[in-house]
Amino acid sequence: MSLLVATHDVFVEHLTGAGHPERPARLGAVLDGLATLDPDAVKWVSAPIASDDDLQRVHPAHLISDMEDLCANGGGSIDPDTYVSVKSAEAARRAAGAGLELVKRLDQGEGEVGWSVVRPPGHHALSDRQMGFCLINNVAVTAASLAARGERVAIVDLDAHHGNGTESIFYDDPNVLFVSTHQGQWYPFTGAVTDVGNGQGRGANVNIPLPAGSAGDALRLAYDQVIEPVLDRFGPTWVLLSAGFDGHRDDPLAELGFTSTDYAEVMAKVLANAVPGKRMLFLEGGYDLDALGHCTAAVGSAAIGLDHRPEETSSAGLGSKIVAEARSVHLGGGAGDL
Ligand SMILES: [Zn+2]
Repeated sequence: MSLLVATHDVFVEHLTGAGHPERPARLGAVLDGLATLDPDAVKWVSAPIASDDDLQRVHPAHLISDMEDLCANGGGSIDPDTYVSVKSAEAARRAAGAGLELVKRLDQGEGEVGWSVVRPPGHHALSDRQMGFCLINNVAVTAASLAARGERVAIVDLDAHHGNGTESIFYDDPNVLFVSTHQGQWYPFTGAVTDVGNGQGRGANVNIPLPAGSAGDALRLAYDQVIEPVLDRFGPTWVLLSAGFDGHRDDPLAELGFTSTDYAEVMAKVLANAVPGKRMLFLEGGYDLDALGHCTAAVGSAAIGLDHRPEETSSAGLGSKIVAEARSVHLGGGAGDL
């Protein structure tokens, strides 16, 4: 098995200000985790700049040009927790370009799974508004590019926060399935189980908002009861995983209780729903550096077919009610049934 990792030095030059959790050291923690893998199984790819055409499948031109103007003028704040510095616009364009380059390389048979290891993250970026540390919706740019060539794309988002940007971009789209587990009643306060998509896209949006304190058993239950059957029914030709690790029990920005081994087990199962060469991970959140390193090492091992368990799996006995509700909505002949 070979893992293609797309990254770039400019990702540590996206500066968010002293004390900001989405900080350059996150990238180093992820790269340290990947450095524990067999070097022969990992191929490194430089993340190129995404073109205007690629970005404009998802974002209006002014959103990008306004950000580039702000960066060129020295940077500043876009919303109360989203900042840019001089190099942030280049970082954002390369963060979006990473996924596109991985698709190109995977199409050429260079690897079996891709991992976009980038900053800033992307899943909170709405089409016309940047928020939540996110400037360009990286996973959406890749999904839109794949959908434009006729692929059926499943995005599975396991970040602790709901991927509101990704959801809204594809809410009406029947060819892009969005499935999210996240902490309910938590930033960005979207992601209700009853939000199932709209119009032609009805049924292709699946939210599983877990209660605070939920642990790995909830994630496994969500996978077995909802995520896997929904993926089976949708029949994706590509599977993209929004791999945020802030559901880890040590993360300061959420209240979930997953371990790195929980993440690795479930992410491996998600990736197994795609054929080799048509599956990718996108780094989203994750703000405890040790947890990030463990998660990256465990998930990276799983991506190359190895079992590495830095921590035990976890269990808290929470989440079964909402998983049953999501199953009822999407698989029990409810409103979202296709
Ligand atoms: Zn997050």
